[in-house]
Amino acid sequence: MRGLKDKRIFITGGGRGIGAATAARFLEEGSRVVVLDSDKDALLRIQNQMPALAGTICADVSDANAVLNAFDELDGAFKGLDVLINNAGISQRKSFLEITPEEWNKVLDVNLNGVFYVAQQAAKRMLKQGSGVILNMGSTNALMGYPHYTSYNSSKAGVVELTRSMALELAPKIRVNAVCPGYILTTMQEAEYTPEMLRACESKVPLGRLGKPEEVAALFAFLASEDADYVTGQCFVIDGGEIAGGLASQK
Ligand code: NDP
Repeated sequence: MRGLKDKRIFITGGGRGIGAATAARFLEEGSRVVVLDSDKDALLRIQNQMPALAGTICADVSDANAVLNAFDELDGAFKGLDVLINNAGISQRKSFLEITPEEWNKVLDVNLNGVFYVAQQAAKRMLKQGSGVILNMGSTNALMGYPHYTSYNSSKAGVVELTRSMALELAPKIRVNAVCPGYILTTMQEAEYTPEMLRACESKVPLGRLGKPEEVAALFAFLASEDADYVTGQCFVIDGGEIAGGLASQK
C-alpha cells in the first residue's frame, strides 16, 4: 500500500484476533505500531511474536480516564498519531428478554463509548498536526438485524453513525471510515459458536468459508493508505457476500 511506511499507527484490542493481524500487516508495510489491549498476557505474547512493535499499552477503552492515561503513554512513544484502528470490542449472545441492564451497559461501554473516547483523543492529536485517518470497527451486525445479539447490534450500529458524524466534522483534515466484517474466525467466534454452528455459518456465506483476520487487516491497510485519500464517511463490508442476499436474518 502507498504511504504507510513510517506512519504512526495505534491499534486498540490488538492483543489477538483481528487487531493482532492488523498490527502484523502494518509492520509489514513498514509502519510504526503501538498496540493497546486490556489483556496483559495477550500483550506479552504479541510483543514476543512481533518484536518490531513500537510499544504496548494495557488499558480498558471503556474507562475514559484510562484512555486519557493511555494517550499520555502513546504521546511518549509517538508524539502524534497518523492512523487509529479503533478495534477493541466484545460480543454478547443473549436473548433480548434476558439481557440485564449491567450486561447491556457493558457492551455499549466497550463497543460504542470506548470507540468514542479513543477516537476523540486521537482526533485532537491529528487536528493539531493537520492530518490523520480514523478507522472504527463496525460489523455486519450494524447493518442487519441478528437475533440474540441486540446489545452488540445496537453498539455497532452506533459506531457506524458515529463514523459518519465524525467524518463530517473532522473533514478535510481527518478521514474517518468504518469496517464491517461478517464472520471472521477469531477467539470471539470460537467462544460463542460450537464447531457445528461455525459450519452452519460457513454454509450461509456465498464464498463458502469464514473470513480470516488477515483479510480484514488488508482492508484496514488500504483504507489507511494514500490509495484511499478520497474515501471518508463510509462503512466497508467484508463478509464473503453474506448480507448481499439478506441471509443474515437466518443467523
Ligand atoms: P477478539 O475477542 O479475538 O479480540 C479482541 C481483543 O480486544 C481482545 O484481546 C480483548 O481483550 C480486547 N478487548 C476487549 N475489550 C477491551 C477493552 N474494554 N479495552 C481494551 N481491549 C479490549 O475479537 P475479534 O478480533 O474477533 O474482534 C475485534 C473487533 O472486530 C471487535 O470490535 C469485534 O466486535 C469486531 N468484529 C469481529 C467479527 C468476528 O467475526 N470476529 C465480526 C465483526 C466485527 P480481553 O481478552 O481482555 O477481552
